[in-house]
Amino acid sequence: MTAERPQVEAAAWPHEGTSADPASTVVIVGAGQAGGWAAQTLRSEGFAGRVVLVGDEAHPPHERPPLSKAVLSGAAAPESTRLMKPEAFDALAVQWRPGVQARRIDRAAKQVLLSDGTAQPYDKLILCTGGRARRLAVPGADQVPLHTLRTIEDAQALAPALRPGRRVVVVGGGWIGLEVAATARQQGADVVVVETQSRLCERSVPAEVSAYLLALHHAQGVRVLLGAGVRGFARAADDRLEVLLADGSALACDTIVLGVGLVPNDELAREAGLDCDGGVRVDAQCRTSDPDILAAGDVAVAPSPWAGRSLRLESWQNAQEQGMAAARSALGQAVDYQPLPWFWSDQYGMNLQIYGMPTPAHRMVQRGDPASGSFVLCYLAGDVVQAAVGANAARDLRFARRLIEQRKPVDAERLADLGTPMAKL
Ligand SMILES: Cc1cc2nc3c(=O)[nH]c(=O)nc-3n(C[C@H](O)[C@H](O)[C@H](O)COP(=O)(O)OP(=O)(O)OC[C@H]3O[C@@H](n4cnc5c(N)ncnc54)[C@H](O)[C@@H]3O)c2cc1C
Repeated sequence: MTAERPQVEAAAWPHEGTSADPASTVVIVGAGQAGGWAAQTLRSEGFAGRVVLVGDEAHPPHERPPLSKAVLSGAAAPESTRLMKPEAFDALAVQWRPGVQARRIDRAAKQVLLSDGTAQPYDKLILCTGGRARRLAVPGADQVPLHTLRTIEDAQALAPALRPGRRVVVVGGGWIGLEVAATARQQGADVVVVETQSRLCERSVPAEVSAYLLALHHAQGVRVLLGAGVRGFARAADDRLEVLLADGSALACDTIVLGVGLVPNDELAREAGLDCDGGVRVDAQCRTSDPDILAAGDVAVAPSPWAGRSLRLESWQNAQEQGMAAARSALGQAVDYQPLPWFWSDQYGMNLQIYGMPTPAHRMVQRGDPASGSFVLCYLAGDVVQAAVGANAARDLRFARRLIEQRKPVDAERLADLGTPMAKL
């Protein structure tokens, strides 16, 4: 991914014929979290025109984080993930098209061709198509059942396999893999995590956080194999499954879960000739290289001053806030969407949060001992906190966020001192 913003033509906003006009139509493709927030925001901002929400899932807009946590464990029903109560969703008066896929964008005619054979005209189009779970192209991958976790149906299919006495191999030691491992363990399953990198969540956290996560899972009885490549899958003679590792060994198990990343659903945009680079490229106004088409959520590659480059954020925060920003931008409002990235993960009752983008170039200041279960690690450039990662420390993390956003210089010794309240820094 590169750092420059996509080139978009300047447009005079709002003017007749744009979506600020009550006679106009905004089409949203993808009825997930970003799409749901885009629809909700169009209405809360007073847009009285037609809103068409096209979603290929059968469900109304919903949030995915519980799918690897409370829904997977059975503690919460799938319906609890809905973004809005049914009556609030109805009150939006959007034309919701469940189970319908957008197949092609005809930019010249400004219409989207749908799987039911109809063509849906738009004045503004917002792409919120998210992504799908990545599969592994290795021998046996199409011969044994492999679970992935993206949808409600995925969670419902996996949940019954997580029970005492069952052996579960999770391929991938990223966030989804670790959350599945934690839930499986809590359900009494015997769990092995296989990670090809030398540490857990290598792409998103520094080594000390990976070490903390490893210790957490070890303490819960999970076996973690690091630097372990998967060369294939097989069915053993006793009908159990096998994960074949690159070193020639095999892990026998009852269930295999792949948590090996996400493929952005950017095909629609690519085929329409929009600028894409591992996702749909947008500017800080959420506009693609066609100013009448916007994008938000997991599918969007946006400039981030916090990362110093463009990137896709796969997070609850971004799906909500960029969905809202795209709707406001479609209405011609001034939008400058460049959020401080925020992500959280819940594992075994531990709540981990990340603000900003920690890098090896930062100086780490530790506040609290990871072994105690509650800590915040602050990442500084000079005297300014640029990023923070913490576990079971929501209050201190809120203050860390404030320090990052205010770019306020801090005294590292006082920052490390638990006796000095963060509010006083
Ligand atoms: C199991 C799980 C746990 C997570 N946990 C956390 C967490 O703890 N913390 C956190 O910050 N984030 C978490 N996330 C990430 C967060 O849920 C996502 O970033 C968020 O759901 C992205 O929202 P979205 O609307 O961009 O995509 P999605 O929610 O995936 O919605 C996209 C929708 O578009 C539909 N679609 C795609 N193409 C088409 C088409 N051509 N026509 C019609 N419809 C189409 C898809 O089927 C889907 O319904 C988790 C994600 C998962 C899967």
